[in-house]
Amino acid sequence: MNYKICTNCVMDVSDTKIKFDEKGICDHCNDFYKNVKSQWENDLKSKNYLHNLFNEIKKEGENKDFDCILGLSGGVDSSFLLHVAVKKYGLRPLVFHVDGGWNSELAVHNIQMLVDKLGLDLYTEVINWEEMKDFQLAFFKSGVPHIDLPQDHAFVATLYNFAYKHKIKYILNGGNISTECVRNPMQFLYYGTDMLQINDIRNKFCTNKLETYPFSSVLRHKIYLRYFKGVKVVKALNHISYIKSEALSLLESEYGWKPYPQKHFESRFTKFYEGYWLPQRFGFDTRRVQFSSLILTGQMKREEALEQLKKPAFNPETIDDEFNFIATKLGISSLELREYFNMPKKFYWDYKNQEKLFNIGAKFLKFIGVEKSIKR
Ligand SMILES: [Zn+2]
Repeated sequence: MNYKICTNCVMDVSDTKIKFDEKGICDHCNDFYKNVKSQWENDLKSKNYLHNLFNEIKKEGENKDFDCILGLSGGVDSSFLLHVAVKKYGLRPLVFHVDGGWNSELAVHNIQMLVDKLGLDLYTEVINWEEMKDFQLAFFKSGVPHIDLPQDHAFVATLYNFAYKHKIKYILNGGNISTECVRNPMQFLYYGTDMLQINDIRNKFCTNKLETYPFSSVLRHKIYLRYFKGVKVVKALNHISYIKSEALSLLESEYGWKPYPQKHFESRFTKFYEGYWLPQRFGFDTRRVQFSSLILTGQMKREEALEQLKKPAFNPETIDDEFNFIATKLGISSLELREYFNMPKKFYWDYKNQEKLFNIGAKFLKFIGVEKSIKR
């Protein structure tokens, strides 16, 4: 196959399903201009929307311990969202963090600084390490690219478990168009809540029963909690001017927050996964998606992105140590981890999955206007 890269962003044929139009512009870009951009700009103009919504959230939360819930990874999106919600609008969120065993020192520092300065309590859900380790190893053994699923799923499940337990109706979600309008291809980052897939991989490769690990099926949290319990997800960053560089300098000056070298690097595992494993084993670099999002929303120049992409996402000088650290922490030898790296590649379609059901759900959400574009 001939190499091809979008003439407008930096997505290329490493996203195997990418399509180019006659001008060489990719379908991510065209989807953004056609389905997302004008709606996003309109949402930004309606300044009263968030004000009114947050007032409603406060009113409904009167006499309760919390009026909403927010999951804090320590990354810039959730950190900035917490700042806006508490400092600017006076909300009283239950702030939780999922400790999957891979927090970087930087993440711990950033979370602590924010919570302290805002005078909040932090609810930390610590995942049983023996279970986490076994679950992550199962994903390595399965050969699929989406090995970060055990961390992601625990986060989603914990969020809904807390919301349910404390009868919280509003979820503040850091998801946003500004830095995430280009989506990762499903081939590499498959749905994190497909329980059929999760259970198939567990049955084949787990040795631990995962009795305390938090699971949540998409039916439970997307249908039952949302439509029968009235839980609402608020993507507040889409209703304010959210410029990554401005958010970073505000967090640094007001909270002593320190930036990460790359998005999602607050977890040491994710850093290894997105910085090394995924690009080196599967040829897909998530920076393409992150940079392309920033290009489309006017926060980065294409030339700058191309320049940065010339360097690998991992540090070649420390990668051997990093590799050994990951292996040791998972309780295996570096040689065993190297074997998983070199084993035949598998994808979500090599295991049981509910892709069709998820696609129908995604189309429905697009139809009713909840989602602007579809992951593919
Ligand atoms: Zn493009």
